[in-house]
Amino acid sequence: MPRLYLSPPDVGQAEVEHVLDALQSNWIAPVGPKLDQFEQEFATAVGSRHAVAVSSGTAALHLALRLAGVGAGDEVLCSSLTFVASAAPIAYLGARPVFIDSEELSWNMDPALACEVIERKAAAGRTPKALVLVHLYGQSADITPILRCCEKHGVKLIEDAAEALGATYGDRCPGSFGLAGIHSFNGNKIITTSGGGMLVTEDAELARQARFLASQARDPAPHYQHSVLGYNYRLSNVSAAIGLGQLARLSAKVTCRRGHFREYARALSDLPGLVMQPEAAWGQSTRWLTCLTVDPEAAGVTREDLRLALEAEDIESRPIWKPLHLQPVFAAAEHHGRGVSDRLFECGLCLPSGAAMSREDRDRVISIIRRALSR
Ligand SMILES: *Cc1c(COP(=O)(O)O)cnc(C)c1O
Repeated sequence: MPRLYLSPPDVGQAEVEHVLDALQSNWIAPVGPKLDQFEQEFATAVGSRHAVAVSSGTAALHLALRLAGVGAGDEVLCSSLTFVASAAPIAYLGARPVFIDSEELSWNMDPALACEVIERKAAAGRTPKALVLVHLYGQSADITPILRCCEKHGVKLIEDAAEALGATYGDRCPGSFGLAGIHSFNGNKIITTSGGGMLVTEDAELARQARFLASQARDPAPHYQHSVLGYNYRLSNVSAAIGLGQLARLSAKVTCRRGHFREYARALSDLPGLVMQPEAAWGQSTRWLTCLTVDPEAAGVTREDLRLALEAEDIESRPIWKPLHLQPVFAAAEHHGRGVSDRLFECGLCLPSGAAMSREDRDRVISIIRRALSR
């Protein structure tokens, strides 16, 4: 039986046709009609005025932070429970990440704690330059109280919605509330371009600057002239062609992933010590990954026992993100927490959740978990 992966790509015929189109038109460059169309359709899909397609979510975040004015010595608040790419661009710019713990309800940044830290720093005359708010595993963070606190103190809000495309906060998409939002089209995300990302914003000038910096900051001149340093961050027209096919099926993909979550939850509901990731009342999660926590006392097994039992059957599962304040590379960074993200890392597990996963494969995962708990 082939290995069952956590979140493999799910590609259809539309992608094949768009890519053929791109190849036959000879637009094999980080510019072209598929790229323009992908940006437009993406902006419409998430309800943002402007969308700038780039080579990765990390690149999009790097651009957003630079355009928020983040520079050497600045402090930037950031969710601790997340992938390293949420904070790496802060360090690329010579700024210092300040990690904020999660709340239990959404597993995302604790608004009360974040606001407390901003108030305290502002009172001491050290207002943070920006805040990177992550929407984890398809679940939006509680944006409003954080946005209000950021606005009050002039802290630029950047949303990392890399895992939350298709989610809602109220009737809007996470990623569309701050100065800028970023999305990712890495191979394991809800839609993929094999690798890619998007910066979204309401600010036309910010979008223009992002495009400028992402294409080596070329001044308008017939020769190559540069007054500032940019990056080579634009997305390929061929990759954008894949994205067009993927984006058209976004809501179907969300439905599949939510279906996996619902079936896992139903089939495991009688087992002691397993708790599924909650869904906050303020919106709909995409359930990008089905996540649960394991209480070893009640379950009689640890998270690691479950992971290894699945691995023995060639099934990939993963611990919840290791919080960034526990990462060796950020050992010296400031951290404000109450141990929530530490505990989630200790006992949290992500299960196979790919949109194209079959019912048989999902049932296999369920029966291995049930067997492990009955030993
Ligand atoms: C995937 C991811 C990113 C980075 O996206 P890439 O496209 O892989 O660079 C950033 N933040 C979070 C939370 C992610 O999961």
